[in-house]
Formats: sequence, C-alpha cells, structure tokens
Amino acid sequence: MTRPDELTFASLGGVGEIGMNLSIYGLGKGNQRSRLAVDLGVYFGDEEHLPGIDLVMPDIKFLEKEKKNLVGLVLTHAHEDHFGAIIDLWPKLKCPIYATQFSASLFAAKCASERNPPKIPVTVVPSGGTIQLGPFSVEFIPVAHSIPESHALAIHTSVGTVLHTGDWKIDPTPIIGKPTDERRLRELGDQGVLALIGDSTNAVREGRSPSEMEVAKTITELMKAAKGRVAVTTFASNVARLRAVADAAEASGREVVVVGRAMERVVQVARETGYLEGVRAFRSADYYGHFPADKVVALCTGSQGEPRAALSRIANSDHPQVTLNKGDTVIFSSRTIPGNEKSVGTIINGLVTQGVEVITDRTHLVHVSGHPRRDELRDMISWVRPQLLIPVHGEALHLHEHAKLARACGVPKTMIVKAGDLVRLGPGDSAVIDQLPSGRLYKDGAILEDSKSRAVTERKRLSFAGCAFIAIAVSEKGDLVNDPELDLVGIPEKNVKGELIDDIVFDVVVNTVENLPKARKRDPDAMAESIRRAVRSCVSEHWGKKTLCYVHILTV
Ligand SMILES: [Zn+2]
Ligand SMILES: [Zn+2]
Repeated sequence: MTRPDELTFASLGGVGEIGMNLSIYGLGKGNQRSRLAVDLGVYFGDEEHLPGIDLVMPDIKFLEKEKKNLVGLVLTHAHEDHFGAIIDLWPKLKCPIYATQFSASLFAAKCASERNPPKIPVTVVPSGGTIQLGPFSVEFIPVAHSIPESHALAIHTSVGTVLHTGDWKIDPTPIIGKPTDERRLRELGDQGVLALIGDSTNAVREGRSPSEMEVAKTITELMKAAKGRVAVTTFASNVARLRAVADAAEASGREVVVVGRAMERVVQVARETGYLEGVRAFRSADYYGHFPADKVVALCTGSQGEPRAALSRIANSDHPQVTLNKGDTVIFSSRTIPGNEKSVGTIINGLVTQGVEVITDRTHLVHVSGHPRRDELRDMISWVRPQLLIPVHGEALHLHEHAKLARACGVPKTMIVKAGDLVRLGPGDSAVIDQLPSGRLYKDGAILEDSKSRAVTERKRLSFAGCAFIAIAVSEKGDLVNDPELDLVGIPEKNVKGELIDDIVFDVVVNTVENLPKARKRDPDAMAESIRRAVRSCVSEHWGKKTLCYVHILTV
C-alpha cells in the first residue's frame, strides 16, 4: 500500500515573537516533499541585548539542505518583517521569488539602494491571481493592511486548502488599494478549508481597528488648525498615510516636502505603481525654507526615534534644510515599536522643550494598526470556517489568546507551535511529527553570524563588566623579568575607598606570580590561569562585578 501525500506546515520564525516571518509548507511523502516558503523577514536587533547587531533573521539551514525541493518563495507583502532578510539570505537559496507589483517594485528599489546592488529576480503575480508552484496552487487574495498590496494566500493542494492570512485587517475604506476580499474568503469557506494560519498581533485587543479614513480626517483637522509649520512622521511604507498627509496638505493650502531617504524611495515606488495618482508632486527638502510657515508640511522618516533619520536630526537642529520653531507642530502618525520607547521619548521631550506642539496616538486618532482586533478575527473565522487554526505572527500571549478565541468561535482544533515544529496538516489528524532545525542569524556589520557566535556573547559580557588585559614577561624559571603591563577597559578607576584599582590589580598579579609553587611557575598555561582567577576575584571584591580577563605570558 502506498502512503498518501502529506501536507505539512512549519514556522522557522514569527511564532513567539513578532518579526522574522518565515513559513514553510511541504507536500509529499517522508523526505520527498516539495517545499514552498512564504515570506523571509527580519527582526530588529535590540541594542541593549545584542550590542552591535543591526538585524536578526531566521536560520535557514533547513531550506539550504532542501534547496532542490524548494519550488519558490512567495511574499505576502513588503514589510521588513516579511521580506527584509531576502537580500542577505537569498544567495544561499537562489530560488524563484513571487510577489505582486508593489512589493516587487519596493524590493527592487531597496536592492538598488544597497552599496553593491544585488541582482535578485522577482516574478510579478497579479493581485487576485493564482500561480502553480510544483504541487501548490497559490492564490493571492487581497487584504487591507498598512502597506499597499498585502495578500492572504490560499494554498490549494491535493490534500486540502490552507489559508495563510499574512498581515491583514478589515478596513472598508483603506484609502488606497482593495479592501479585504470578504466574498472570496467566504467562498473558500464554502469549499472547505483545512487550516487557517493567522495573524495574532492584536488578538488581545477587543473590538475593531478604526479605518485609515478616520486617521486621514484627524490629520486634516490638525493640519488645518495648525498655525506654524507641520511635520508628520510615519512608517514610509504606509502609502495610504502618505496620501492622507498629501490630501490634508492640499485641504490646508500646504506643500508637501519629503524628508529622508526611505520616504523618498517609497514615494517614488508609489508614484510608479499608481498609488499616488492625482496627488500633486511633492517637493524635495531643499524647498522647505522657500515656503511661509503655514504653507508647508514636512513628511519625515524617523518615527521610531532612529538617530540618523530625518526627525531626530530636525529635533536636534542638525538638519541642513528643515528646522522647527516654537509654535510648530509635529504629528507622530505611528506606533512606537517596543524597544524604541526611550529614543522616541527623548525626541518628543526635546521637541516639547523647544515649544513644539507634539501630537501622538495617545491623544488623537493619528494612527491605526494594520492588524485585526478580536471582532475582525471572529469575522475571518466565520468566513473561512477552518478545521484547524494555527496562530502565528505574535508573542506567546497573542498566540494563546488567538487560539482561545478560535475555539470559542467553534474551530474544532487549534495548535500553538514553536519555531521548527513540523506539523502534519493532513490527511487525518493534525499533529507535530518532527522538528526542523531552526534558530537565529545575526547581521553583525557585513557578516552573518550564528546566534551562538562568540563575538556577540563576548560583546554582551564586555558591555556589562569590562575586561582586564594583563601582559607579563617571565624567565624560564617563571620569575618576572619586568613590571606587568595592565589595561583595564570598562572597569572603574577607583574602588569605594578611593584606591586605584589599577594599583590593586598590579599588586595581585605580582603576588600571584611570586607565590606560585615552582612547578606551576614553569607552566605558562597554569600561571595564566592562576593570574586570571586572582585578577577576577580581586576586581570582583573591589567592584562587585566579575570582569573578563585575558592574560598573555611571554617567556624570555
Ligand atoms: Zn508582519
Ligand atoms: Zn505587515
């Protein structure tokens, strides 16, 4: 008897964390499965926990091994947490990539802005279209989100249909692009859906997220009421928001000046793809000073407090063209991503101190999330009526709440998975049947490192407890021939009594060498280890922290 083909799902990133999304579907038997990858995104490094790491991405050693079975990488949309790792990781896979026009254009613009622009081909798929990739028939269903052309993927196979929602919300008036295609999703539900793999970001928020249209209204009111200059900062990729700002500017007789490279890039792509049709041309930052204060609005990057982005430089009076004064207004049309609160807070407080009026989503409806709240999740479930729901795109709490809500809505089965769990979706009972290798990669300068790499671990320890470098020269018998050389890096100069720690460590090194038994003295490794221990315990006694210590012994 031949075993039937199995349909499997695994997440290699994006479950238990928001970011670095990567899902893999498999169809076939045992190790002979065709693989389909969905999204390949990044997670933003957190300076405090990962010093010097710019980006975190999923470890793709499993896909590298399965390269010959990989039929393609499909992108749901062009947010960094879904496509930000492609430039770094695609060279390891060299698989075909499929995306709709806006995502493909934004990706091309991103590649072009690299120092050595990589050539990575993307095949454009029409929104609403279907492509056949090996045994997978992948249908791109439009959904509303905070970037143009977000798509849920209906993955049709011989075993059944899976709906991979991607990032979505329900917004009947999204300003640009198509609203979530309820009709098509209901049809899928009528035909039967095996599993729903769904966005859990806002699963703890009751109700429905407001529409982009309401945000646009608020921004127009604020801009009309503003007396001086206005600066609006938002995620550059939120083209609906850029359009809302442009419309508000038009309604209040202001010219839009675009400030920041990422913003210029998205504006250009949005023009090319028709999403800013009918909107008057924006001006470059050079023109900012040419307009009277109440005739200009600056559309800026930097909503997350990024130190080199436009808003941060403007706030520090460090921008060559754009300045703000007392009485001007800054609108944060954005949400602060966890981890960025401090840098955003510093900018806001700096602006307020200068007399600038700051408006955020805490007091005004100047931002809405692009993810579904609980009533929207309930709608999706009632349309699609899946046999199984696997919550993704969320931290543990979000996944848990999404699963609970699904069961309350009558979904027969829910599963919370960890990165690397290989789930059999069908035929028969769904279950975790294997573990795939998973993990994280760090982008450290120009180098991709395993998350267990020495460099990051050592930098973390260095940043916390400094390092003592000791160099000594000894004779063959192991006696000091000179004074030890010390460099204490990141260690306080004096102890609580005001004594120099340098001097104390110096004495400890000399005493340790002099008091070593003869046999140990002749063994440089043993001597180094004794010195290292003595120095660490001495620094700990005087400072209260265990430092790193490196000892170099030169036998002369
Ligand atoms: Zn996302
Ligand atoms: Zn997104």
